[in-house]
Amino acid sequence: MYTILKNASYLDVRSGIYQTNKSIIIKGDKVEKITDAGGADGLGDAKVIDCSGLYLLPGLIDAHVHTTAITPDFAELEVTSPFYIAIKSTEILSGMLQRGFTTVRDAGGADYGLAATTQEDPTLGPEILFCGKALSQTGGHGDVRTKGRRQFEGCFCCAGLGIVVDGVSQVRRAARDEIRKGATQIKIMASGGVSSPTDRIDSTQFSIEEIRAIVEEADAANIYCMAHAYTARAIKRLLRNGVRTIEHGNLLDEECCDLFVETGAYLVPTLVTYQALANEGVASGLPASMEEKIYTVLEAGHVALKMAYDKGVKMLYGSDLLGAMQRHQLQEFSIRSKVVSNIDLIRQATVNAAECFGRVGDIGEILEGGSANILAYRQDPLQDIQTLVNPEDGLRLIINRGVTVKHLAA
Ligand code: ZN
Ligand code: ZN
Repeated sequence: MYTILKNASYLDVRSGIYQTNKSIIIKGDKVEKITDAGGADGLGDAKVIDCSGLYLLPGLIDAHVHTTAITPDFAELEVTSPFYIAIKSTEILSGMLQRGFTTVRDAGGADYGLAATTQEDPTLGPEILFCGKALSQTGGHGDVRTKGRRQFEGCFCCAGLGIVVDGVSQVRRAARDEIRKGATQIKIMASGGVSSPTDRIDSTQFSIEEIRAIVEEADAANIYCMAHAYTARAIKRLLRNGVRTIEHGNLLDEECCDLFVETGAYLVPTLVTYQALANEGVASGLPASMEEKIYTVLEAGHVALKMAYDKGVKMLYGSDLLGAMQRHQLQEFSIRSKVVSNIDLIRQATVNAAECFGRVGDIGEILEGGSANILAYRQDPLQDIQTLVNPEDGLRLIINRGVTVKHLAA
């Protein structure tokens, strides 16, 4: 059975130009063919959706989410039943899909089991690229202990977002174990963070030897590393040692930007999460003791975005929201639009991510042979990015790997 999107105008995200009056023929989870009007006539058993007057985009990609972060309190997550978290995660996943995200990259928490659920049933949520547990050093961003707690209770099987490992042999073992469980990338906590109780934002984490060992293990499995880092000092030691994506990067400098361009690495700003944490973090469950750290990175993040954009650093869309704040996932478009052009913003949330993830020809574009991840809007997002930000009424059609998950009649 085919699905045919007729009278379709879809955005070629590379050229920034709409291809008009096409028929997009979907078979199974793929776009089988794209023809001129009438080219799909006589296909027989087909569901036809008239896309007249709509603007079609490829499904969006969020490169930094936490699908299992049902609360911003990571210590609480570690002692919560994984069954409870999994059920609550389904709400998070469904929310993401309804916002137009058909692929998300989890930055700590999700595993092969959660990924399998949306893989088996595309109505449940976006495809999940997962790293399993984020690797953290003792006292690092993934170590949820307060000063008074001596024993680390986190382990490979609990429900937290990270695993604490020290030394080259432990980090190798942890990376190999995530690879064993099918990780699509390895996550390194490589500087201080906001939601960790004992580290400082300006600290670097892991030794160069440990970082190299993790990158080497990822390379060996033909995957790559993503790393959480704020300061220029932390970012440089990651880029110089083969890490492919830098998460946050709020305190980067010009030299970092040059290094990004030189190495071809990607920056994943996550500005919306600081705004959300500042506005409602504590009300949503963030321990009040961590609130002060938000302001260290909030303003700097906007400066970093502009510097990186002006320098031509390749960027991906990231939201990094936690708990109830996940509903602001699309606000990152609004924030970045003050600096980034609409077409570049759409590229950050589509084709740039496909390139970074090694998925060109499959996701991030509407093209023959690619996954049938397609959105249709009433207004043109190229003209007004708010079209993406407020999808409740304007987003008329969501197709996730060939399955129609939302369709509002014209
Ligand atoms: Zn982080
Ligand atoms: Zn994160």
